[in-house]
Amino acid sequence: MSELVIHDATVVTVDEENRILREGTIRVEDGEITAVEPTEEADRRADADRVIDADGQIAIPGLIDAHRHTDFALVGGLFSDLDGDHLLREAISLYHNAEKELGDSFFEAGWELACLRQLTNGITTVNAMDFTPEIGAEAVGESGLRGVIGPELADLLKPESPAEQLAEARSFIEEYHDTYDGRVTASIAPGGEVGCSRKLWEGVADLRRYYPDLRLHTHLYDTPEADTMAAASGADDPIALLDELDLLDERTLLTHLLHADEDDARRIAESGAHVLHCATVYSYFRAGAQTWFPLPALREAGANVALGLDDPFWFDCWDIIQEAKHARLLANFEYGAHQLSSYKLVKMLTIDAARALGMDDEIGSLEAGKRADVVLFDVDARRHEPFSNLPSLLTNTITGGDANTVIVDGELLMHDGVVKSMPVEETVAAAERERSRLQEKTGWKTSLAGSSPPEKSIVRRISARPIIRAIEQYGHGFVSEHLP
Ligand SMILES: [Zn+2]
Repeated sequence: MSELVIHDATVVTVDEENRILREGTIRVEDGEITAVEPTEEADRRADADRVIDADGQIAIPGLIDAHRHTDFALVGGLFSDLDGDHLLREAISLYHNAEKELGDSFFEAGWELACLRQLTNGITTVNAMDFTPEIGAEAVGESGLRGVIGPELADLLKPESPAEQLAEARSFIEEYHDTYDGRVTASIAPGGEVGCSRKLWEGVADLRRYYPDLRLHTHLYDTPEADTMAAASGADDPIALLDELDLLDERTLLTHLLHADEDDARRIAESGAHVLHCATVYSYFRAGAQTWFPLPALREAGANVALGLDDPFWFDCWDIIQEAKHARLLANFEYGAHQLSSYKLVKMLTIDAARALGMDDEIGSLEAGKRADVVLFDVDARRHEPFSNLPSLLTNTITGGDANTVIVDGELLMHDGVVKSMPVEETVAAAERERSRLQEKTGWKTSLAGSSPPEKSIVRRISARPIIRAIEQYGHGFVSEHLP
């Protein structure tokens, strides 16, 4: 007897043959897909623990957010009307003060809200880099979702020494890698050339030799000063730095590359490293205005590119389908039409992202032998019918909010729009409570009409900190948007 049978779905498999089944059946046993075939009459009367009639719904592989930060999920609504410089000042002051003034309960509520946002947008897997990885691993594990979580290492931005941060990363890996039935795994996550000293990079190289199966997840070329920062670590540029330390290969994930040129793109592609692109956050705040992600060069050189929301709480959108839309619009605006086809975007959100994470044997497509991570989108609605071009429908018309049913490892985490795996009311109540505390402590004001930052920014109180000196010296472009 099957554990789960989904019948009469329109199935976009994203398998090697790129099959699309008009009326398809997905069979699942022990959390694994055992068959994806055209629906037969017997499937409608299948003997299974659970049978889902998915008539009028599209089934696709669970969506993957390939680069995200989560710690500050609760600041949603505060930052989205600020300009880039102001955003950065307020973010830094929050990041520096939140840990001691708000405590674990703030981050726990944030991670749980993030899981709820992720789940209800059809994102079954997240690749996260955060300063509260233990809280994250437990929140993701308990929610039934899948997550690769890296403790963000950045000795130029955090008070702990490289040795202390590396020791903490090692104990995180030992405690949380391959937990929750394998749904939660760990990565090694140095923040990038801006936040890490040579000493830290060398420690990262040691850590990676010790854990060769883990992904190395970092930011690269997100500021124009990337080469200068790499020079401070004794290398010609960031790619040379990684290469020299044996950190640049097919297990490496490089995020942003806003200031990488064509030659950099070629070197990255030749190394086999994967690229994570986050179009929304940079275009929204107009950072990196002088250059843009070198998509044509990466494509020509054959690099694998996946997509991420990065800091969804800064611009108030947790929908990775909209992220894909923005990636295409900005690429077309910069380089001319047809930079990314609709079906390529679907692949970038599924199988390409799975390949980047080294999980393409397990997830990223709907085919026998893979884990059953499936999202059903309800398209039996007036605003969608009639339709023909499914890749276009999936990337131009529907949104993450159209996700109706979300399955991970064969478990129904959301069914017919009802969340099953998380206590929704408690999650929302905790988020509201912790957010009120944040506002009381910082002076942020919010109303239904918008938000306003504290009149006297607490940045002044922390102006002796090195990161503020760096901003004063180099301007905001010096700093990535990811700060402790
Ligand atoms: Zn990031």
